[in-house]
Amino acid sequence: TEQEQLFLARTAHSRRMREASANVLAGGVASSWQDAPPGAVWIDHGAGSRVIDVDGAEYVDLHGGFGVALVGHAHPAIVAAVSDRVRRGTHFAQPTADAAAVARALANRYGLPLWRYNNSGTEATMDAIHLMRVAAGRPKIIKVEGTYHGHHDSVQVSVYPSLAAAGPSSRPRSVPGSRAIPAAVADLTVVVPFGDLGAVERALVEHRDEIAGMIIEPIMMNIGLVPPPPGYLASLRDLLHRHGAYLAYDEVKTGLAVAPGGAVEWSGVMPDLVCLAKALGGGLPCGAIGGVPALMGLIATGEYEQVGTFNGNPLTMAATRVVLTEVLTADAYAHFDRLRARMVTGATRILRGYGLPGHVRAYGAKGAVIFHEKLRNYRDFLDYPDQWGNAHWLYQHNGGVFLPPWGKCEQWTLSVQHTVEDADRFLVNLEHLAADLL
Ligand code: PLP
Repeated sequence: TEQEQLFLARTAHSRRMREASANVLAGGVASSWQDAPPGAVWIDHGAGSRVIDVDGAEYVDLHGGFGVALVGHAHPAIVAAVSDRVRRGTHFAQPTADAAAVARALANRYGLPLWRYNNSGTEATMDAIHLMRVAAGRPKIIKVEGTYHGHHDSVQVSVYPSLAAAGPSSRPRSVPGSRAIPAAVADLTVVVPFGDLGAVERALVEHRDEIAGMIIEPIMMNIGLVPPPPGYLASLRDLLHRHGAYLAYDEVKTGLAVAPGGAVEWSGVMPDLVCLAKALGGGLPCGAIGGVPALMGLIATGEYEQVGTFNGNPLTMAATRVVLTEVLTADAYAHFDRLRARMVTGATRILRGYGLPGHVRAYGAKGAVIFHEKLRNYRDFLDYPDQWGNAHWLYQHNGGVFLPPWGKCEQWTLSVQHTVEDADRFLVNLEHLAADLL
């Protein structure tokens, strides 16, 4: 198509970089999901709300490195804190003052007393599952069909299963993510549809005294953006507790982004554990788990050894302290609210005006145009055509806005450095798409 040709013309140097490196860099990318159609765009640098690619094109960055860049790029306060820390040494594997300051800031935001660090969302959800198993003395967990929680074994189950493999919608099968996950491992993860309390209750009864807990994204984000049904999260927590099981929120994407206290604040429902990563480190790799004493206390007693050479790395902690105490202030959230309102109102007007199918969903700094009438769970997502998300991505890209790749799966991330002009560029591109499609 014309838009594909335009993309190819704009990204010639990216393709040369890929070709020149593919014999040493496996697959020509640093992480397999960077290899998204229509082709990986190599970045030279970021500044404020923008990224500049190796072809010299500047984009309004709504990709935000898969939801990391709430602070934008090269934020002066982060640059200052990290530069200062670099000069004083970056790694000791001993605690530093910032590690305590970050835990205090997180405890205040989340109302959960005890915290630990790791380096990614994968590690955070792995620690959460381990803690639930130790606390409950049970082997199995429940996860939602279609949710991504990272790349460790327990959660590489039914992430994007085919309809043929997934089984009946009311009773999804536990489908191993790849040949890397043995069926015996996948069987320890019981899969339920998003928003379906009856399915969770059935799982708890069928696997009586075997379920340690459930991990869930309180707002489902890797199939676009799907809020939970009203009352679902509170009832879910009570149901799990009645069966002696725990609830862990995977807030790797929602954390700090949908409200200062993430989805805990947004939903008003306190889980037993929270997993954070992505935005937490302000662009450095930081993960964290926070929770109630019944679980996090098992770390202090040594019943669960929560370990990692780079946990609480001083460079990461310096950046994270500044994210929490200087950048993501009340003003930052007011800024997200203003830009989000502009994007939601504008995009909704365009969808309606051109009679396009779909709706707009947004919370805090996150949002998405969803070209599907009623996206409620993974089964709905399976009949959400790829073309829409892909075409939207291309139109935005050629119009100077970088959305996360994998069109219909992802959502935008605003930063404190985005402007009204940035939001308006997004709307102009969406209108261009709508006009061409009609
Ligand atoms: N959980 C959620 C909800 C995610 O979106 C992701 C990553 O996209 C992860 C966990 C894994 O995080 P990481 O890629 O830092 O390991």
